[in-house]
Amino acid sequence: MSRYLSPKQSALVPYTPGEQPRERTYIKLNTNESPFPPSDKAIKAAAEAAKKLNLYSDPTCKALTETIAALYGVNPASVICTNGSDEVLDFAFQAFCDDNTPAVFPDITYGFYPVFAARNHVPFETIPLKDDFTVDIKDYCGIGKTIFIANPNAPTGVALKVSEIEQIVASNPHNVVVVDEAYVDFGAESCVKLTGKYDNLLVTQTFSKSRSMAGARLGFGIGNPKLIADLHTIRYSTNPYNVNSMTMAAGVGVLADEAYTRRNCQTVMDNRAYTATELQKRGFEMTDSYANFIFVKHPALDGGKLYEKLKEMGILVRHFTAPRISDYNRITIGAKAEMDALISAIDQILMEET
Ligand code: PMP
Repeated sequence: MSRYLSPKQSALVPYTPGEQPRERTYIKLNTNESPFPPSDKAIKAAAEAAKKLNLYSDPTCKALTETIAALYGVNPASVICTNGSDEVLDFAFQAFCDDNTPAVFPDITYGFYPVFAARNHVPFETIPLKDDFTVDIKDYCGIGKTIFIANPNAPTGVALKVSEIEQIVASNPHNVVVVDEAYVDFGAESCVKLTGKYDNLLVTQTFSKSRSMAGARLGFGIGNPKLIADLHTIRYSTNPYNVNSMTMAAGVGVLADEAYTRRNCQTVMDNRAYTATELQKRGFEMTDSYANFIFVKHPALDGGKLYEKLKEMGILVRHFTAPRISDYNRITIGAKAEMDALISAIDQILMEET
């Protein structure tokens, strides 16, 4: 820390992203990326857009916003495009939380929420998940705070039903409820359809997972046009060119290739079921994941040890050290061959360690 850092930021503990090693090739099952390449339509559109990189990108993100709106059956005024969904989440913390309206989210959830709260100097509270890592919706009904719920949740993969989220939204009419649907395309039900009915619901999604575009950094929010206008105020006060023109074009390109996206999601879901079954046969316990990862522990194998052993064998998974989840590893679902490599490696580790 330099002696110039503002005391306002000196206590900030930054988010730790998953490892992105460059020194050796790993089977990467640690950051929930897609194992499939981006759609050809996205690649071609981005290459074409590169020819005009001398110009600023469209600050209104018109073509992409309209394409997203058409796909999700909402008005373009209900959509905001951002630099990854991290950015729309950050904007929501800035726009809808303050000293009188703290943020609230589960104790086990996306690790960036407390960082967004800290950096934006807004108070936050956490509500413990139940022992089985499910949300007790009663904890969130009528609480008068700005609620952030990842659905499916990370790193557990556990999903709430839309009817359950609706109870939370309906019971907090004076507060915004943000539903982070980064992983919704892998089998959970989206709340986008509720955004026309409730003016306090913001749904966020990403192109990073189901649409194979993590490196392009593209996310979006859908909500009542007034909520979206508030987020645009923050956006225009931060960076009006938050989505670059290659990413914007790639986004329109991939949305013209929905069949490709749906096929890939189905493959991930099939590989998830296969991997879960194989690991269960080997004694692993896990949550019921609706995401492109599974959250597993083995009664006879320390979570940190499994992570280390797999890393030595060239396979990266994500291990968290937080108290309630340190026995677990989050394993991204990759291609079938990657999952087979994981299962073989685990067989070897179980032989050596148990
Ligand atoms: N929400 C959740 C729950 C996530 O796990 C992630 C990705 N790590 C994000 C949002 C943000 O993803 P991105 O910024 O790539 O859209």
